[in-house]
Amino acid sequence: MKSYVDAHCHFQDPRVDDAREAWLKAAADQGIRQFVFGAYGPDDWEFQQVISDRYPGVFAQSRGLHPWWVSQASDDEAKRAFEKLEQEWKADHRFAFGELGLDFLSRFSADERTRQVQFFEAQWALYQKYPRGSLILHVVDAHDEILERLTKTGVPLRGIVHSFSGNLEQARAYRSLGLHLSISGGIASRKTGKAFRKLKETVVSLKPSDFVLETDLPDQPPEDLKGELNRPESLIRLAERIGEWRGEDPQLVLERSSQIARELFF
Ligand SMILES: [Zn+2]
Repeated sequence: MKSYVDAHCHFQDPRVDDAREAWLKAAADQGIRQFVFGAYGPDDWEFQQVISDRYPGVFAQSRGLHPWWVSQASDDEAKRAFEKLEQEWKADHRFAFGELGLDFLSRFSADERTRQVQFFEAQWALYQKYPRGSLILHVVDAHDEILERLTKTGVPLRGIVHSFSGNLEQARAYRSLGLHLSISGGIASRKTGKAFRKLKETVVSLKPSDFVLETDLPDQPPEDLKGELNRPESLIRLAERIGEWRGEDPQLVLERSSQIARELFF
C-alpha cells in the first residue's frame, strides 16, 4: 500500500474546515496518508490538537511562532505567546519545533524584522536548552542570517528548511548541519523566472537523501490551481515535476521523501 507523507502543510487552517474531510479522502485515494503541520501561533496550536485527535496517526504536530505571526502580534500578545510556548516545550516533547525563522520579504518593515529576529533568537535559545523534536524553519531572503546563527551551536541538527528558496551553497550548508531541504510546488510549478531557475538548478544538484516534498497547503498553490486553495494532490504533481528535472521515477522521489519525513516527524 502506498503511504506518502506531505512534509509540511497547514491542514489545521480554518480555511480548510469545509474541505478537510473530502481532501483527506481524495489524498488517501492517491496514497497520501500523513501530514506534518507547520505552526503559526497559539490559536493554531489548539487547532492542531483538535484535528489530530479527530484523525489519529494522520498528523504530526508542531509548536512555534511563525515570523508572520510575530510580525503582526502586539508586544503583549507576543510575550504571552512565547511564555506559553516555553511552558509547553518544557513539559512536552512529542512535537516538532517551529515554524520559526526570518522572513525578510520587502513587505516587512524594519521594525517587523527586528521583532522577527528577537523572537527567532528567543525560540532558538529555548530549543537549544531542550533540543527535542525536529525543527521546522521558515526562511525567506534571510538564509545567511539564519545559517550564521545555526552554525554557532556546533551540535548536529534535525528537521527541515520548509519551502526552500536559497541557492545550492546555502542548501549544502544546511545539509552539513544535518537539516533537510523541503521543496514546495509554488515556485517549482512555474516555468520561468529567477526564483524558478534557482530552485531547479539547486534541486537538480542535490543528493537523493537531501530533500523532502511539501505542499504548504492551503498556501502556495501551483500554477494549475492559481487563485484557489492549494490541495494535497499537488504533492503528486510536484513529485512528477521534480522527477522530470532529476530524471528519476516520481514515485521513487515521493517514497524517499516520505520515508525521510516519517523518520523526522512521526
Ligand atoms: Zn508553513
